[in-house]
Amino acid sequence: MKSFSFRQFRQQFPILENLVNAKPLIYFDNAATTQKPICVINSHSQYYQTANANVHRSSHALSAKATSVFEQARTKVKNFINAESEKEIIWTKGSTESINLIAQSWGRSTLKAGDEILLSYSEHHANIVPWQIVAQQTGAKIKVLPLTTTGQIDLSVLEQVISERTKIVCFAHISNVLGRINPVSEIIKIAKKYQVKTLVDGAQAIAHLTIDVDKIDCDFYVFSAHKMYGPTGVGVLYGKQELLESMPPYQAGGEMIKSVSFEQTTYNEIPHKFEAGTPNIAGIAAMGATINFIEKQGGEAIHEYESHLKQYCYQQLLSVQGLKFIVDGEPDIPVFSFTIEGQHNHDVASALDSVGIAVRSGHHCAMPLMQYLNISGCIRLSLSAYNSIEEIDFTVKQLKSLNLTAANVTDIVTVSSKEIKDLDTLTDSFPSVNDIVALFSKSKSWDSKHREIMMLGKKLPRLPVQEKNGNTLIAGCESHAWLVCSKNTNGVFRFSGDSEAKIIRGLITIVLAAVNNKTAAQIAAFDMENYFSELGLLQHLSPSRGNGLRAIVNKIHNAIKL
Ligand code: PMP
Repeated sequence: MKSFSFRQFRQQFPILENLVNAKPLIYFDNAATTQKPICVINSHSQYYQTANANVHRSSHALSAKATSVFEQARTKVKNFINAESEKEIIWTKGSTESINLIAQSWGRSTLKAGDEILLSYSEHHANIVPWQIVAQQTGAKIKVLPLTTTGQIDLSVLEQVISERTKIVCFAHISNVLGRINPVSEIIKIAKKYQVKTLVDGAQAIAHLTIDVDKIDCDFYVFSAHKMYGPTGVGVLYGKQELLESMPPYQAGGEMIKSVSFEQTTYNEIPHKFEAGTPNIAGIAAMGATINFIEKQGGEAIHEYESHLKQYCYQQLLSVQGLKFIVDGEPDIPVFSFTIEGQHNHDVASALDSVGIAVRSGHHCAMPLMQYLNISGCIRLSLSAYNSIEEIDFTVKQLKSLNLTAANVTDIVTVSSKEIKDLDTLTDSFPSVNDIVALFSKSKSWDSKHREIMMLGKKLPRLPVQEKNGNTLIAGCESHAWLVCSKNTNGVFRFSGDSEAKIIRGLITIVLAAVNNKTAAQIAAFDMENYFSELGLLQHLSPSRGNGLRAIVNKIHNAIKL
């Protein structure tokens, strides 16, 4: 095995030198996408500078060069996952498109009413929704496999559920939330007994394990380049040759045909049969560079360092008071999902972001898993081989200081339904626009602005439970949020709001400062976007939280029209 030099590895990722919110970046959102080494970034621009032409079609030197780079990358992928032939490697734009291809080509042409598709509760939406669509189209049914307490697919249930009606089992090699390796070979062995096809979603596994599709012996294996230090917009569908040959095209157009006439069109051989249109050639060239990069560093050496990080991070997280992992035990890859007692997951993520730590919070594109585990969401730290022990220590320290704040929160005021109706009792204590602008002009850094938003959120009186319903819910907010509107006889409006997340409550306070105690005409005339930009909010909030802010404003504008 090659030796792994952390410093030398990390130096190759220029983005890690950047400051975020004026703090050194700690990037712990690698399960969403990994950062790219300089050789991959350069390969992209080098392709456009030296080899750009369309592939397979034109009869000139540059096209031959582009085609050669493109097909060499296919060969590299074939060797990287130990497939038998290049014909088994189809380029797509990501795992999502690969799964849609299988569902619409294999699924739609094969499945019949009453057939069954087996999924698990831990699947990413990308491995659920394409199957729901094909189930609606064909009359097939979806059955869902439960998990063990440590988060793997429960094999004993698989044995009971699988039958002659089952046509395919589709499951993640490793869940993007649980970080647990599913018992792939056992699942495939059972599936084979019933001649059931198998699709393994390798989106997470590809960066952390050595993949050998020959050994795994699945029918389909899918993954995305961007999760393994490669470019976005490039994915792979591996399928067994015979199976791919038997499947109809997914999309139609140039490249996927042999001949076209209005009387009859014949299709190209695999893999081209599934590659209609001009592909992401520059991205695919960069995927070739990605594989070169991993092989040069040594895949196993990378995985061994990650395993060391994972063990350390798990032990450190265990020491955070109130932290609860969403399944039992240490994960198999450095993906940690947890909740913290007394803290909303979005508040934790935004607090970490304000000190430069990028993590993900929410449902992680796995809403059925959240329902299965009976949680509304969680925080996820996902590490890569360019992350360090020091970054873990700093993050754990931040989590511990959050936890102390949570323990001190005793001053929660709840406003009553009667008070909501009675405008006068509520008018006094609420901050004005001038108060908010003054508060924010004192706070120069995002870190301190963030603290002010959280303080505003802490002070906002909570709504009583009966006011939190379908009518008051703010559609489009990332976490649950509610807005109650009342108007007095002079046409003056008063709004009260609430959310599960303190950061959203803070944002609600900022919006309400601009609209409370005003008439419909005054509210409509207020320039909200200018107000947000004066406060320096929009450039720091994530797109989803920015949209949440706009959703609050939309709800107010709709309310004043009624
Ligand atoms: N499956 C899993 C397990 C994933 O983690 C992801 C990405 N988060 C996907 C599928 C979808 O991958 P992509 O967005 O690259 O198509």
